[in-house]
Amino acid sequence: MLTRYAPSPTGHLHLGHVVNAIYVWGLARAGAGRVLLRMEDHDRIRCRPEYEAGILEDLAWLGFVPDQGLDPLLRQSDRDGVYREALERLRHTHHVYVCDCSRKRIAGEHYDGFCRTRGLTDGPRCGLRVQMDDGGDLLLRDRDGNWTYHFAVTVDDIQQGITHIIRGDDLLSSTDRQLRLRRMLGVAASPVFVHHPLVLKPNGEKLSKSAGDTGVRELREAGVGAADLIGRAAAAVGLIDEARPVAASDVAALFLKPEA
Ligand SMILES: [Zn+2]
Repeated sequence: MLTRYAPSPTGHLHLGHVVNAIYVWGLARAGAGRVLLRMEDHDRIRCRPEYEAGILEDLAWLGFVPDQGLDPLLRQSDRDGVYREALERLRHTHHVYVCDCSRKRIAGEHYDGFCRTRGLTDGPRCGLRVQMDDGGDLLLRDRDGNWTYHFAVTVDDIQQGITHIIRGDDLLSSTDRQLRLRRMLGVAASPVFVHHPLVLKPNGEKLSKSAGDTGVRELREAGVGAADLIGRAAAAVGLIDEARPVAASDVAALFLKPEA
């Protein structure tokens, strides 16, 4: 069993990231698995080195230690050649085409295939899409030249041999697309997906990276200990009934059934 913890350095960690870490390390340790750390910095415009450093520092402070990917640090931004190669493989078997549609023109998740037969030449301000069987052609590289989340993650999960993908249930809707892309890349075997609940704000919204009162740094500076913070996150999604200190090294116990 190999799973991954894959933060984006577009902000600092908050309670939602801690919840994900509890599930990733907890399920991995409960199942004698390993955890790979992957910096998902495919978006070069939004990612910052200071966030990367902050995430690594907060993870270490919390006590979540990856088994691989930390030294040297595994970053998507260092893997351009891998994505290029995967793109070339995809071109052999599928229709990959240039798309210059703006986000405004697309206005929504589902792309209508407008550029599919336009035969545009690749250049600045052009994205790349692959035709999917049921339409909704997936963007592989955006108009700023960044590999997209779906593409980079799918290629990484295949190439790094990830067997278990453990993530928040906000990503449930993208599972099907990623599985299809995986098959299009020639991989028949599917990883196991585990989708876990998210920590929500009292009004039901998702936490954002700027959420001051739930930020790991802010709580730490306010004197909250690592085990208290992990306990707070575990209680927020119902893994434990009431917040109590839980050390990072003990999160597997949250997933092991007590002896009868
Ligand atoms: Zn287009």
